[in-house]
This record gives sequence, structure tokens and C-alpha cells, in this order.
Amino acid sequence: MIDDARRDALEAIATEVRACTRCRLHEGRTRAVPGEGHPGTEVVLVGEAPGQTEDRQGRPFVGRAGELLVRLLDEIGWRREEVFITNIVKCRPPGNRDPEPDEVAACAPYLRRQLETIDPSLVVTLGRHSMARFMPGTKISAAHGTTRPADPATGARHATVYAMYHPAAALRTPSIERQSFADARGIPRTLEDARRERASEGPEIMASTPTGIV
Ligand code: URA
Ligand code: SF4
Repeated sequence: MIDDARRDALEAIATEVRACTRCRLHEGRTRAVPGEGHPGTEVVLVGEAPGQTEDRQGRPFVGRAGELLVRLLDEIGWRREEVFITNIVKCRPPGNRDPEPDEVAACAPYLRRQLETIDPSLVVTLGRHSMARFMPGTKISAAHGTTRPADPATGARHATVYAMYHPAAALRTPSIERQSFADARGIPRTLEDARRERASEGPEIMASTPTGIV
């Protein structure tokens, strides 16, 4: 029941995103990429921006970086359908350039509303741009594999943030790939800690619909 309400709310946000013209990135997109996953999940993964394959398919992380992300999740026995996967900006920047601050700001309400809807216990940031939203003032080389409480202003009101490298960076650099697998192995324990932290804040904000991820 709660999942149905969340699915409807997430679909309403996705419909808005697909028609959005709030920033210049709408001009060059083939399809916007709102994000996808299990509406009742406790875990949201946040990447940077759609690439070419994502832009064509309208789905997040379906290119080479996505293949690696699936392998990282497989390392801990998780499937992408069990979590929610989205990005900081929902449309592909031309030539895969970094998103501009005004584009990130224009798109931020969609991610905030997705997080308010899902109310996750754990937000996993993938790469510098995502980390900058959730752990401002940190460097990825120091912050990967570490946590901090999510700022409720992000929309994730009862969550822990866990930083990881971007899978595309792991594809470029073998040492980062090894580190990414090590960081992935830290996710289940981090989720357990996040649940405990949330429970200690009060029973009314316990995750309402655990999906069986352990
Ligand atoms: N890289 C991202 O950050 N997001 C995607 O969806 C695909 C590649
Ligand atoms: Fe709208 Fe975000 Fe796409 Fe910009 S990137 S057009 S704000 S959905």
C-alpha cells in the first residue's frame, strides 16, 4: 500500500521531469532520465548525469558505467531493481561535460522530492558531483567509504550518506576500481548502522517498508 502511493508519487515526478524545460540541458536531450527502482527501498544511489546510452534509453546507468555498477551491487548480492538509482541532473550535458551550478540548482527540486517520497535510510553518492550535494566541503579521495548524516534539506530526512567513487572513474583507473569494490562491501554494514541510527531517533520514523535487503 505504501509502496503503491510511493510508486504513484515517483511516477508523477518522472512525468514532470520528462517534460521539464527548467534549464538549458533540455535543449540537447533525447530523453530525460528521471531515475528508477523499488519505491519501497531503503537505499537511493545518486550519480551525476545521464550519458549517451542513458539519454537514448531514458534510464539511468545502462551504459558501461552502469554495467560496473551492477557488478558492484552483485558483490554484495544486491540487484539494481531493489534500490532506487537516479542522478543529480536528469538530462545529459552536451558531450558529457560537467553539469553547471545553475543546471544543478534548477534540477535539485526533483531529487529532493524523490528523496522525500522514498525517505531512505541510506543515500549512496557516486562521484564528486553527487558527493558535493550531500557532503559539501569534502574531497572524494578522503571521503569515499565514509558516512555522515544527511542534511534534511536534501529531502532525505532520516538518512545516512555514504560516499563512493563514480563507476566511470573506476573504469578508467584500476586502483579506483579495486577501491570501489572494497567500498561496495561496506554498504550492508553501513545500512545496518543507518537503520540503527534511525531507530534511535524514534519509532515514528522507522523505515516503514523494508524490502528485504539485508
Ligand atoms: N553516469 C552517471 O552519473 N549517471 C548515469 O546515469 C550514467 C552514467
Ligand atoms: Fe529540467 Fe533537470 Fe532536465 Fe534541467 S536537467 S531540463 S532542470 S529535468
